[in-house]
Amino acid sequence: MTQVERHTYDVVVIGAGGAGLRAAIEARQRGLRTAVVCKSLFGKAHTVMAEGGVAASMGNVNSNDNWQVHFRDTMRGGKFLNNWRMAELHAKEAPDRVWELETYGALFDRTKDGRISQRNFGGHEYPRLAHVGDRTGLELIRTLQQKIVSLQQEDHAETGDFEAKIKVFAECTVTELLKDGDKIAGAFGYWRESGRFILFEAPAIVLATGGIGKSFKVTSNSWEYTGDGHALALRAGATLINMEFIQFHPTGMVWPPSVKGILVTEGVRGDGGVLRNSDGKRFMFDYIPEVFKDKYADNEEEADRWYTDPDNNRRTPDLLPRDEVARAINSEVKAGRGSPHGGVFLDISSRMPAEEIRRRLPSMHHQFKELADVDITAEPMEVGPTCHYVMGGVEVEPDTGAAKVPGLFAAGEVAGGMHGSNRLGGNSLSDLLVFGRRAGAGAADYVQGLSARPEIAQSDVDNAAQMAVAPFDPAGDGVEENPYTLHSEMQQSMNDLVGIIRKAGEMRQALDKLAELKQRIRNVVVEGHRQFNPGWHLAVDLRNMLMVSECVAKAALIREESRGGHTRDDHPTMNANWRNKLLVCSVASDDAVVPGIEVTEEPQLAMRQELFELFEISELEKYYTDEELAVHPGRKA
Ligand code: FAD
Repeated sequence: MTQVERHTYDVVVIGAGGAGLRAAIEARQRGLRTAVVCKSLFGKAHTVMAEGGVAASMGNVNSNDNWQVHFRDTMRGGKFLNNWRMAELHAKEAPDRVWELETYGALFDRTKDGRISQRNFGGHEYPRLAHVGDRTGLELIRTLQQKIVSLQQEDHAETGDFEAKIKVFAECTVTELLKDGDKIAGAFGYWRESGRFILFEAPAIVLATGGIGKSFKVTSNSWEYTGDGHALALRAGATLINMEFIQFHPTGMVWPPSVKGILVTEGVRGDGGVLRNSDGKRFMFDYIPEVFKDKYADNEEEADRWYTDPDNNRRTPDLLPRDEVARAINSEVKAGRGSPHGGVFLDISSRMPAEEIRRRLPSMHHQFKELADVDITAEPMEVGPTCHYVMGGVEVEPDTGAAKVPGLFAAGEVAGGMHGSNRLGGNSLSDLLVFGRRAGAGAADYVQGLSARPEIAQSDVDNAAQMAVAPFDPAGDGVEENPYTLHSEMQQSMNDLVGIIRKAGEMRQALDKLAELKQRIRNVVVEGHRQFNPGWHLAVDLRNMLMVSECVAKAALIREESRGGHTRDDHPTMNANWRNKLLVCSVASDDAVVPGIEVTEEPQLAMRQELFELFEISELEKYYTDEELAVHPGRKA
């Protein structure tokens, strides 16, 4: 029988980023015993890296802003493939979640009259991103952690035990979800330091594990982003949607090679930075797509006036949604007008005084000085696209975050639907707060409605342990594979063949490569012990990355159009007949190591009429079929 440390909770939240912490706070505030489990150190989640800000239509800088405008921008950004109910909840609730953060102690930058300051960002009609310099994610995590500590102090005052109702298990990786029949019953994992096993018995699990970026070679994402939550959900019987949509952020560092992919915040362009090619030309004016022509300036003078007079000028195309800017950079580089190291130039130095740059963008200044020996107050940065965010994730019920498996909930980057085919910058941090809270509440309500607690079978615990230690004693017939080699081959293949511009033949090659790696993973061998063993950790994560990569490649091959974070060289236009189709990934084979993936189609629910009518018919005509538009008053008239 497997030696395992056992814990019993009402709700277990996997992930301690913004989504996980907000979910945990909600579950605890509703009286449930809650555990937060994270594979990194507490406080080190990916959310910490968020720079630009959190989008919420508070209207502090431009009073014309409101939730309807934010909703419209979000749907436009996602090319109308978003789950409209999620976009509606998000736009309506984001301001309250930001103000709530202030009550937890967040210190946002202020306007001159003392309100929370808001900055411009791509695709947002008005200045909307509440921020703390370019370190917003750090402040968000700091205050959510502080709130947890304050709740623990309340619990101590009441029970004498700080951890009576909420406890954090840091550096602890969950490798499997366990069920009782069709219901969630708990989670199995290991302590990264000791390698010892740990079991959580709990009727509700909230997945808040973030993204999948480490499946790609060039990425802004940290080591944690191995798609664990996506794969855990699939193996537990839940579904993923929108996996073909990967956001390649237009501005990652391109030089030196060791830091390639690290993010250069969109805040640089929001604050006045502009993109130029090797001829010094502001090339974004050549890339304004038809659907955005009325909203973006077509000349430098108007674009520059917009920064100070946004009511009477159209915005700069440097701030088009990320998918558009990333494709434009890709085209410039391909046409031979790139920078020396294969990117383009991002210039803020000629646009504002050095002192102002250091004040507004301290992290960027530091990052380029330290990593590339570039002083951004004196010279342009070199930037290029980097894999940044996955729009796809666990298919959830919008109001509660419930996945298809009873007892399983998801929020944050691991959940799908909210951002459609492309996320607007700043809409993730707000998503974490809005849907983290809702998933915590959904899990609490679910547990409170149960008549009996599910039980975990010992055989399931033994199987999970067996799977985790398999790399120490692989089944292979003398062939030995190295997890780092497999990881690097997978990343290269995903980058080259399922990257920013896709073709059917290349994606088939990627799927062949993934099939080969799925066989080779059975022969992966790791040396040494279970005590802090990075090779073993990677071998465990590889299973997950192979599963999510297969989802991305299969769905991308099926979607024969270009939309948001999915660009097909062989199907270059958007097709209205694809707009209301979701591609749904589920497990199709009972291979215990890396189960195969099946992709099916599901219709997207039609938008509620009053939301539909927030858009002009002339705009909707660019995205919808005639049949769908028949119910719009603009058509009926
Ligand atoms: P995370 O914050 O990544 O947390 C995931 C958690 O899950 C971690 O605690 C991790 O340890 C844990 N975990 C994962 N797998 C396991 C496992 N198997 N077992 C246990 N624990 C596990 N968005 C914005 O809106 N505004 C911005 O300005 C912005 N800037 C960004 C800058 C950078 C450099 C990057 C990379 C992203 C940025 N984003 C921004 C996106 C945003 O930061 C992320 O989408 C968001 O933070 C994800 O939060 P999360 O709570 O879903 O996950």
